[in-house]
Amino acid sequence: MAADKQQITEQLRQITPPNASEDIVSLGLVDNVAACDGIVAVRLALPAEAMSLKDALSEQIEQVVRGFDPETRQVTVNVIQAATPTPQDEARETNPLPNVKHIIAVGAGKGGVGKSTVAVNLAVGLAEMGRSVGLLDGDIYGPSMTTLLGLQEHSAAGTSQLLRPFNVHGIRAMTIGKLVEPDKALVWRGPMAHGAFRQLALQTDWGELDYLIVDLPPGTGDVPLTLAQMLPLTGAVIVCTPQVVAQDDAVRAVKMFEQLGIGVLGVVENMSYFIGDDGKEYDIFGKGGAAEMAKTLELPLLGQLPINTALRANGDAGRPRRNFEAGDQLAEELMTFCRAVDERAAQAGDAQPTLSIS
Ligand code: ADP
Repeated sequence: MAADKQQITEQLRQITPPNASEDIVSLGLVDNVAACDGIVAVRLALPAEAMSLKDALSEQIEQVVRGFDPETRQVTVNVIQAATPTPQDEARETNPLPNVKHIIAVGAGKGGVGKSTVAVNLAVGLAEMGRSVGLLDGDIYGPSMTTLLGLQEHSAAGTSQLLRPFNVHGIRAMTIGKLVEPDKALVWRGPMAHGAFRQLALQTDWGELDYLIVDLPPGTGDVPLTLAQMLPLTGAVIVCTPQVVAQDDAVRAVKMFEQLGIGVLGVVENMSYFIGDDGKEYDIFGKGGAAEMAKTLELPLLGQLPINTALRANGDAGRPRRNFEAGDQLAEELMTFCRAVDERAAQAGDAQPTLSIS
């Protein structure tokens, strides 16, 4: 009887790449083996730096297979390049927050596009939909949640091990702004910001959550990298204004998330248009610019939020729920955006690789 898949895999253990301490099977380089009636196919997945060994290893595999079973009629070795592990791969294995179903980062290419405002309203909107939601102010260099959530009169509390999140507006929130003096956070250098962000994320008593929304600092700095290494994310939401100059930065943010192994759930266009007292829509920044960019990058457009005086005023007053209570066009657009994120998160969650133990 011709050799089967298992026997062939065992035989391949004879092959050890030059300078390696283990054989190709133990190293996980043998991606697949198929064998049927003397026809054998082996797929090798080599890291980019080992691609030069492609021909030598293929030859060795053929010799080993034919040597083991002289009746082998055909041996095919297919060599592919193994995917480079991303920071997210690491985080998926360790997952320090297993009670949180979806972690979503809110990022932007640059400051001032309304990223924190969008993060807050996403968190509150998802809570309005009945989800349990946490909000982490990861904008370590310029935390704005104290104002946006009206936390001025609240004091941080907890045990020596765990911080208690602020239960406000139907969500659980944590911000560095309530733990250090506001102007101190701004001068932090990389390693300190990394440590502070890590502590905020892991030492807050989040409990069970459907969503943890993380407001990231603008741009492509070290906090996103820390986040990607630490927590497995369902994806990122990119906030962008319609102007062309804003889009270039947003594209860079999208690329950064992709490199970190974080999928981008979609783009939300903020300050998309303005509705005047006359009820007419005015496209001050050129409505649709971010939508166009999303299309080019083949990303979903999650929403288009208007320039709205009440949104700004409710942000300044720390009363985000009012945005939803008015039942006006702003409330509608915000809910459309939150529902789109909820839907995309469910889809992305389904697509996440899971470990099956047999
Ligand atoms: P970022 O986090 O990108 O720096 P913020 O969320 O802090 O931006 O927003 C900057 C300012 O713009 C805030 O005063 C906020 O209230 C205001 N703002 C954000 N989005 C809108 C909007 N759609 N309409 C009106 N004002 C907005």
